[in-house]
Amino acid sequence: MTYSERVYSDLKAKNPNQPEFLQAAEEVLEALAPIVDTDPKYEAVGLLERLVEPERQIMFRIPWVDDNGKVHVNRGYRVQFNSAIGPYKGGLRLHPSVNLSIIKFLGFEQIFKNSLTGLPIGGAKGGSDFDPKGKSDMEVMRFCQAFMNELYKYVGADEDVPAGDIGTGAREVGYLYGQYKKLTNRSEGVLTGKGLSFGGSLARTEATGYGLVYITEELLKDHGKNIADSRIAVSGSGNVAIYAMEKATMLGGHVISCSDSNGYIIDENGIDVEAVKQIKEVERKRLTEYLKYHPEATYGEGSLWDVVSCDVALPCATQNEINKEQAERLVGTGCFAVCEGANMPTDAEATQVFLDKKVLFIPGKASNAGGVATSALEMGQNSIRSSWSFDEVDAKLKGIMINIYYHMKEACEKYDAVDNFVVGANIAGFMKVADAMMAQGIV
Ligand code: NDP
Repeated sequence: MTYSERVYSDLKAKNPNQPEFLQAAEEVLEALAPIVDTDPKYEAVGLLERLVEPERQIMFRIPWVDDNGKVHVNRGYRVQFNSAIGPYKGGLRLHPSVNLSIIKFLGFEQIFKNSLTGLPIGGAKGGSDFDPKGKSDMEVMRFCQAFMNELYKYVGADEDVPAGDIGTGAREVGYLYGQYKKLTNRSEGVLTGKGLSFGGSLARTEATGYGLVYITEELLKDHGKNIADSRIAVSGSGNVAIYAMEKATMLGGHVISCSDSNGYIIDENGIDVEAVKQIKEVERKRLTEYLKYHPEATYGEGSLWDVVSCDVALPCATQNEINKEQAERLVGTGCFAVCEGANMPTDAEATQVFLDKKVLFIPGKASNAGGVATSALEMGQNSIRSSWSFDEVDAKLKGIMINIYYHMKEACEKYDAVDNFVVGANIAGFMKVADAMMAQGIV
């Protein structure tokens, strides 16, 4: 057994009930094999064993009271995975499906993603099985305050800086920040994705979706294709999906779909992004409402990936939303590029289909890194007590995404895996973290 195989086998034995975490770890360990199995210096310092074990995992009770006076108890998580290159950084997910496996997979991915941005930020993730859907603003506020009543002990501007993720948008970040300030009496950049009136950065809301489209544009250009000539399928209708659709449309792409957890919209006239914003960001309603704006569009229940045909797929909803059959279908109907907006939306078998069929495929840890990169820019602005213009932040974001693309590409070429960006992203992300861990000794 090679070093990376042994580490994965031990990890599997130790964490049998964490399928999402094991899936993410297996992909990374396989991609790193050409490096870690050929140079004994990594095994000599137990580097992989340390890399796959979080530095700290915190789980706690979140008791809160609903509008009818009923007490609810949710479970809160913060997994501080790796701080070798900087303070822990990663979002907070609020969704009923949240469990330790999902938070560990997201925190593990975050290590490499944050490294790829070129900025000094370590990897973490957190969240709760609380479902913000259908809750009043006051209930969401009371939940967020209860969450922060415990979380504040472990976070700080130079220690751990959480942000948004599924179910955690500007409203939730505002309530979390308010409670942190109340508890600590400190006005500091402890969270990113804050409102513009209290330390938020321009372009942070747009950053993950815009960044996804910038890297997709570079990928297509580099392969003699053009976003403006492409038929683009987007899934999801949250923060990432909305701004991916907006930027792709601005660049002349023909965006024909979006979805939520109930169903999907296909609009051959091009998705009306303003209508989706109104439904999802303002009214917080279901996507069926889209038909009120555009009755000629199609609404279907189930998965978008069972029906849509496109040149470019941008999955922006959640993990494992594309399976093997759906990947084969997409390839069969002419899809030539898949760039992940969500974290791990393509399952392991589907990823293999895309790689085998030479579909241009960029994994989320590279293609959705624009969100955390801009969060790090928000941290920078907070620490110098200044703010930059939208265009300044957007230009930096675009530069970072293009850098990630070429950094990945270079790693692909160096390790004889041309156009295999799964290998390229993992290796490029790993090298800096590994160097820092080696330099800092066994800690
Ligand atoms: P949002 O909560 O804003 O939106 C999530 C979207 O995905 C919604 O349309 C939601 O539908 C749908 N969705 C969520 N869970 C499921 C599910 N189990 N099945 C089907 N659809 C689902 O989240 P974001 O847009 O912020 O995040 C989307 C993805 O992008 C996640 O994987 C996240 O980790 C990743 N990401 C986000 C970043 C950010 O900056 N926001 C940064 C990097 C990655 P519904 O409305 O019905 O719940």
